[in-house]
Amino acid sequence: MDKKRNHTNKFQFVVDATDWSAHAGKLSTPHGVVETPAFVPVGTQATVKSLSPDDLENVNTQLVLANTYHLYLQPGPEAINRLGGLHQMMRWDKPLMTDSGGFQVFSLGWALEHDVGKLVSIFADDSREEVSVREYEKKGKALIKREKLCVVDDEGATFRSHLDGTLHRWTAEKSMDVQHILGADLVFALDECTSPVHDEAYTRLSMKRSHLWEERSLVRFKELNKKSEQSIYSIVQGGPFEKLRKKSAQFVAGKDFFGTGIGGALVSKSKMGEILDWIMPIVPENRPNHLLGIGDVDDVFLGVDKGIDTFDCAFPTRIARRGDLLMMPEDGGTCANHWRLHITRHEFRDDPAPICRSCHCELCQSTYSRGYINHLFWARELLAYRLATIHNLWVMNMLFTEIREGIASHSLNRVRERWMG
Ligand SMILES: [Zn+2]
Repeated sequence: MDKKRNHTNKFQFVVDATDWSAHAGKLSTPHGVVETPAFVPVGTQATVKSLSPDDLENVNTQLVLANTYHLYLQPGPEAINRLGGLHQMMRWDKPLMTDSGGFQVFSLGWALEHDVGKLVSIFADDSREEVSVREYEKKGKALIKREKLCVVDDEGATFRSHLDGTLHRWTAEKSMDVQHILGADLVFALDECTSPVHDEAYTRLSMKRSHLWEERSLVRFKELNKKSEQSIYSIVQGGPFEKLRKKSAQFVAGKDFFGTGIGGALVSKSKMGEILDWIMPIVPENRPNHLLGIGDVDDVFLGVDKGIDTFDCAFPTRIARRGDLLMMPEDGGTCANHWRLHITRHEFRDDPAPICRSCHCELCQSTYSRGYINHLFWARELLAYRLATIHNLWVMNMLFTEIREGIASHSLNRVRERWMG
């Protein structure tokens, strides 16, 4: 009896403390417990670029998200299966999540359809960077001709690989099958991603389709997940339209999902707050809430305030690789400078000062000078990418530690003021 209870209790979400609508809690998985709110770095290709699993642990990473689309194409689920699954392959024995692959499949389609390559970068992640076919074309390196890369029908989507142009079929069942083989603790149902420029009529149609796909995802998930080794998140769709968002929130609330994902076009920072205000009173309180693709400091405070528990975003790691280092308030990070220091700027060329005096990450503790890191970036030395990524993830995790402590002591306001000014 007890054994059975333990078995089903491998996944659990418990809220320990609240501060207004913000909550701090514990998200338990078979690979460990995630203290929430938590930041989730993106390991697109089963690695957070330039970091080893030890590096990730040393910066206090609790949970990593890998991209199903990329791993499906390369090295492929069969290879990953032979290598023991995602945890075993990447030597990460802590909690893992995978997305449904839908975002990348559809963003190929609508990025070309609406010519919104620049627009999507508002809330961009690594994968969007990598599938920018148009950029490859400009450089004359495109492997595939410019044509619609994704065709959606009610059953699923047919798309061309951005790597070699081969044709693939993506459905709810396929996404679940692949995510089951990858074996992450937390997986996502397949939804159709709409673009910020889709109108209400199309977004409604697409939302209905998403709901059907999410139901099918749940059925397949239950067939595959007899041993309760994975848990599944729904996705609330509906674009920037109040009626649709509320309808979608009601739909997912009525289904047997473990967690609630909030996706789709969030359009702008102010609209994001509005959308969360519509959704959050409807989604079940006892489920963890995940906001997809959001990770700017001000967006994090907004999300936490509305009751978001986990945030995945490639932004801190991506900006690290171009020399933008995140700064805590005591080191000069403010709303105005977006908590960033552009280490590649000329003024740092012979600056002997350390990067941040109050940061305890490997980069800052090694007392490398700003001048040296500036040089490494200009020389395109690989160490620069690793150290900068370590630093940015450390700062993000410090921010979330402060947020959790703030919620626990009912002083989240003070933490927000400290960071936002
Ligand atoms: Zn640091």
